[in-house]
Amino acid sequence: MMDDKKAQLTFKEQAEALHENNLVADAHFDLLDLVLAKRLKGENRVIEKDYLPGLRAGGVDLVISSLFVENEFLPEMGLRRTLDQISALYSEMDESPGLFSLCRNTEEIRQARQRGELAIVLSFEGLDPIGNDLSLLRIFYELGVRGVGLTWSRRNYAADGCLFDEEEEGRKGGLTSFGIRVIQEAVQLGMYLDISHLNDEGVEDLLEFYNGPVMASHSNCRNLAPVMRNLTDDQIRSLASRGGVMGMNVCSAFVGDSDKNMMSEKDLAYHVDHIRNLVGMDHVGFGFDFCDELTDFSQPGAERFCDCIKGHSRCVDLTAELLARGYTEEDAVKVMGGNLLRFLKDTVK
Ligand SMILES: [Zn+2]
Repeated sequence: MMDDKKAQLTFKEQAEALHENNLVADAHFDLLDLVLAKRLKGENRVIEKDYLPGLRAGGVDLVISSLFVENEFLPEMGLRRTLDQISALYSEMDESPGLFSLCRNTEEIRQARQRGELAIVLSFEGLDPIGNDLSLLRIFYELGVRGVGLTWSRRNYAADGCLFDEEEEGRKGGLTSFGIRVIQEAVQLGMYLDISHLNDEGVEDLLEFYNGPVMASHSNCRNLAPVMRNLTDDQIRSLASRGGVMGMNVCSAFVGDSDKNMMSEKDLAYHVDHIRNLVGMDHVGFGFDFCDELTDFSQPGAERFCDCIKGHSRCVDLTAELLARGYTEEDAVKVMGGNLLRFLKDTVK
């Protein structure tokens, strides 16, 4: 008993040291959606006060913030809401100088980290903000956006999203001709493509029309948790064969079907194991999608969507669990952020 406890502590300490000394990156966080909502209520320095302490406690150096628009704002307010999120980030950077910065490439990420600042990269979670206007993609590139998740879990001009569960619906589609033009333009500009939330038809189309590396920023293994938001083994092999990366998502519905309130980093570690067994260590990372703050747990069924790790401050627990399972420090460093950084180096201009 004592020995077990001591060993556990050692893995935790080992993980903490790794997080302190290596890049730790989260490929998906709805940061700016949260920040904008609070700023509209009159708050400021929201990142500094509400998020940076937890990120720092977890040793996180890089966060990819989604640009996500709630259904209630679509379609008319999608563009404005997204511009407001980006504007909010610029305001927050002015209010909290020297603490975090918007990064447009891996060199800027390196410099931010060297200055001790949190690096923030921007990515669409659904192309709803650009509607069917391809020229707006260029504008968002100029504003600093570097990731293109074609859809959230709904249909837009580019593609069909995937629903969380099977639902009564008409026939699904893959990418539209607009969607295909978007991927060509995005790649040309130097933006990466994110397949999380695309339906299977869309993933298949995207991989057919684009040969380079893709990210699945916050998707787990469908083999272990059979929901459509997770990737099939074949999709994981395709992603790996072209140098892609997938981020492990803490949302209990995508982790497994044991008691949601009993889930932990151990359950998520099985997904890392599965990916390692399928394709090795170079294609898995963090993409936590911490959502407890956004979830209304008074709604029926909402507990399915609780986070199995409670916030960035605890993300070191997943690294400790990997070490306890026999992963080497080199493996852990890849998962913590090394693989994601390599992917960004290969894709972003
Ligand atoms: Zn999402």
